[in-house]
Amino acid sequence: MDHVPDDRPIAAGTPAGQARARPWPGYVKASIAVHAGAAALSAAVPATWPWALGAIAANHLALTAGGLWPRSRWLGENITRLPDAAAARGEIAITIDDGPDPEVTPAVLDLLDVHATKASFFCIASAAARHPALCREIVRRGHSVQNHSDRHSHGFSLLGPKAIRAEIASAQVRLCDITGTPPRFFRAPAGLRNPFLAPVLQALDLRLVSWTRRGFDTQARTAEAVLKRLVHRLAGGDILLLHDGHAGRTADGRPLVLAVLPALLSHAEAAKLHSVTLPAALA
Ligand SMILES: [Zn+2]
Repeated sequence: MDHVPDDRPIAAGTPAGQARARPWPGYVKASIAVHAGAAALSAAVPATWPWALGAIAANHLALTAGGLWPRSRWLGENITRLPDAAAARGEIAITIDDGPDPEVTPAVLDLLDVHATKASFFCIASAAARHPALCREIVRRGHSVQNHSDRHSHGFSLLGPKAIRAEIASAQVRLCDITGTPPRFFRAPAGLRNPFLAPVLQALDLRLVSWTRRGFDTQARTAEAVLKRLVHRLAGGDILLLHDGHAGRTADGRPLVLAVLPALLSHAEAAKLHSVTLPAALA
């Protein structure tokens, strides 16, 4: 599944807060069909009720599994790669989550500058509110700030529709107030979702972005392990995930993202690939 292109048309330039007319995700229609079909079947032929109940249970199991698999599209649109046109231009998207962090983020920005490359920062809005100048500095240097929820709650995927909307909408307002630009993309904390997320994103005019490949740099022990995962089959169109917040550390205490980025950027350059922001690649 690493190289499935995102085949949805891009509706660029939609003003913030104005929902686009997008079709309901397939899982909503499929789930409604399963429930209606099961009800009709057990009404018409009462002896089939165990089968009807089994179908409903299987439907709920599939929805849960889809939410636990960050790169799945069972719960609606999920961008895991840049469009073919961006891939053909040799573009990749380095995305950096969980900041801004006053210790790590400035050094990340310096490393990106050295390689004249751009990245997208999925910021936690409450962290951005603690460090608004740093958040603005990200944008001033030509990078993009996107929505990674307000508090990055570990229970995000267990929230109901109202709480999910409050979490994302509040982040949207805070990040827009700080940077002056409304985020266009959302990434779920830890990539975990539930079926309530897609309608909320649709209403807030946000698109879900996960990744092609991640380095597991919050848990890894060595920069080599993270780098190896990220550059394995690295190709145009890849979306890569690293962390400036909650950064894992090397044995000598260095944030892994800082240990990995120089080698990653050199590797990309040698492969004639360059990182651009998500809004640029998806424009
Ligand atoms: Zn995160």
